[in-house]
Formats: sequence, structure tokens, C-alpha cells
Amino acid sequence: MQDIFPDTSPIVDRVALIGLGLIGTSLARAMRRRGLAAHIAGYAQSQKTRDAVAEMGIVDSVYDTMQNAVRDADLVILCVPVGVLGAVAQEIAPALKPGAIVSDVGSVKKAVIESVGPYVPEGVHFIPAHPIAGTEHSGPFSGFAELFDERWCVLTPLEGMGQAYAEAVDRLTHFWSACGAHVEIMEAKHHDLVLAITSHVPHLIAYNIVGTAADLEDVTRSEVIKYSAGGFRDFTRIAASDPTMWRDVFLNNSEAVLEMLARFSEDLTALQRAIRWKDADALYNLFSRTREIRRSIIEAGQETPEPDFGRSHGSEHEADD
Ligand code: NAP
Repeated sequence: MQDIFPDTSPIVDRVALIGLGLIGTSLARAMRRRGLAAHIAGYAQSQKTRDAVAEMGIVDSVYDTMQNAVRDADLVILCVPVGVLGAVAQEIAPALKPGAIVSDVGSVKKAVIESVGPYVPEGVHFIPAHPIAGTEHSGPFSGFAELFDERWCVLTPLEGMGQAYAEAVDRLTHFWSACGAHVEIMEAKHHDLVLAITSHVPHLIAYNIVGTAADLEDVTRSEVIKYSAGGFRDFTRIAASDPTMWRDVFLNNSEAVLEMLARFSEDLTALQRAIRWKDADALYNLFSRTREIRRSIIEAGQETPEPDFGRSHGSEHEADD
């Protein structure tokens, strides 16, 4: 990976990471890579994760209570499943330092603002965030320093918050840029709608098609596996994503997902009709348009132009959310 941030001076004194899975350990590694924090404190709920992260040496201190981890931290980043963010915010609130920034990495934003917001004390800046970067792997061993490089991180700041808050947003923007990401500011509701179609519905389709194939009676499971390279295999990668994370995404972004699913169903029905009535033009025109979309994603640097996602060339990580 290209070295795009040669600067190694700390830009924040003390950072606390609550949750040390894929995103938490990737953040720790991204910070370590550039020396972005003078001290990185980490919290994980299980002893197993705490031991693993301590062994890796990617944080400076590991805590078994969230309150001790966040004490004196200038920046607290919540890297836990969306469904527990409210309870985590309630737990850490009394230990937060005045003037600190509290942020998160949750894949959903409106529900997170509703669940976390009420617990954030006066004088602490809550700035919701979502790095659009990930893989189907989870846990402390899945993280890597380059995860956020050239990916987007969306911040959905609260409205009407004043000058000190605006400065905190600038600091968080600078932090994510130094971690390798491009930063975009967006309204939370709009974020949820955009992510519903670019990430949440595609995951639902993958979970559904893999589930359907697993339940087929006339095609054996061994045939599904044997001939998977026909397209099915690519869905199985997405459908291998963390069940807890994705359960929480669908429970917390139901409105936008259902809206996009309704559109999807209508278009699927139109496709069904085109197949039934042998409407060759309709099929050809759609497939030509979709090819263009993939071309645009590659041109925007968000996907490799290598055939088969670069698999034959040993690409280790595939971008996801
Ligand atoms: P992960 O690898 O499964 O890690 C989750 C972490 O949260 C683990 O450290 C786990 O602790 C901890 N945790 C789980 N339940 C908890 C609870 N009830 N209380 C306290 N800690 C708890 O998950 P991840 O992929 O890093 O995802 C974390 C967040 O990032 C989610 O909100 C997700 O929406 C968001 N996100 C994920 C991706 C992605 O592709 N994976 C991309 C962008 C954003 P233990 O290890 O000790 O169990």
C-alpha cells in the first residue's frame, strides 16, 4: 500500500477505543502506523480479546472496564455493534472528560444519534461517524492498518451546536484523514438512505440467496459448492459477514431498508416480466447500464479493475462495509 501519510507526529493526546474487533483494531493499527495518538487505550468485553490485543502491542493500555478506558481521553471512539451503543454511552458518560469528542463507527446513523445522544454529557462533543470500509471478517485478528486508505468516512454532525462543536468536527475530520480516509459530511437520514441501497440491501440479498440455495431440495448442497464460481461464490463472501453486526443494522435502519427493498421488488418484478415475455431489449439495456456503474466505481478508485476481484493475484482483502 502506498505511503500517503509520512508525517508521524501525534494529532491527539489520548484516544480510547471501546470495542477491539475489525474496526477497533484497524483504527489502532492505522493510528500506530502514523503515530497519530500519544496514548491509545482500549477496552474489550472478553478476556480473550483483551489478551489478544495486549499481545499484538497495537494499543498502549487495555482495560476491562469502559469507564477506566475513557477516563482522560480526548477522543473516544465506540467500535461495538450498533445495538449496544446506547448502553455503552450510558456506561461511559460519568467518566468522560469535559471537552472530549465521543464518536462511533456504526453502520447506521439516525438510530445511533437517538440511542447515544441522550447520554452524552454537556460539554462533551458527540460526532457520529461511519467509515465505509470493512471486510466479512470480524474480531481482533481481522484488523489491518490500511483498511481506511482511500475509503470514505461519513460524519453526520448534530445540528445547531455552536463554534466549539464545529471545531471538534474539524479535529475529527483531520483525524480520519490522517487514518487514510476521505471525509464527507452528511445528514444522518440521508446517510441511512444511501447506505441502505449501497450496503444494507446488497447484504440482505446475499443472505437471502445463500439461504435459498442452502434450502433447495432438487439441487444438492455439494453441487451448490462445486459450481459456486458461477456467481454464487461472490454472494457467499458477503453472506459470511458478522451476524450480530448485520442483525443490528437491519433492526436499526428498517425504515430506509424497507423503502429501498420496495423499489428493488418493483424492479425485480419488471425483470421477471422481461424474462417471461422474452423482452431482449429490456434485458440488454439494463445489463449495459449496470456495466457502466461498475466501470464508474473502478474509475473512482473504489474497486480493483483486476478480473475476478483480483483473486488470481492473491488479493488478501476485499473492500466492503
Ligand atoms: P467485531 O469485529 O465483531 O468487533 C466488535 C467488538 O465489540 C468486539 O471487541 C466485541 O468484544 C465488542 N462487543 C460486542 N458486544 C459488546 C457489548 N455488548 N458490550 C461491549 N462490547 C461489545 O465488529 P466490527 O466489524 O469491528 O464492527 C464494529 C462496529 O463497526 C459496528 O457498529 C459496525 O456497524 C461498524 N462497522 C463495521 C464494518 C464492517 O465491515 N465490519 C464497517 C464499517 C462499520 P469481544 O471481542 O470482547 O466480544
